[in-house]
Amino acid sequence: MHELSIVASLFEILEEKAKEKKAKKILSVKLKVGALSGVVPEFLETAFDIYKKDTIAAESKLKMEKVPLKIRCQRCGTEIVKDDYVFICAKCNSRELETLAGTELLLEKIEMEI
Ligand SMILES: [Zn+2]
Repeated sequence: MHELSIVASLFEILEEKAKEKKAKKILSVKLKVGALSGVVPEFLETAFDIYKKDTIAAESKLKMEKVPLKIRCQRCGTEIVKDDYVFICAKCNSRELETLAGTELLLEKIEMEI
């Protein structure tokens, strides 16, 4: 499960940030998860809950904002939010598409008790 290694590196960042701020504990962690990030949010949550035990984030909650896939057609400029993975412009049938959003996996916010 590759979510485990993602969570492992996430916790390295969390511990570092907590140390920086001299936080007592981490209350919540917010991630942005793109539809094409290759991460399954449910797996990520499970991995997070397993990993957080005995860490500074033991009582924390993981919040995830799912970012839909957004593309722009390079031929006609149409921007489309996709809920499928058909990579053809609906307007001009071009396959020259550029991804604007939806591939990211970002740590957006950490709430800490200082
Ligand atoms: Zn187009």
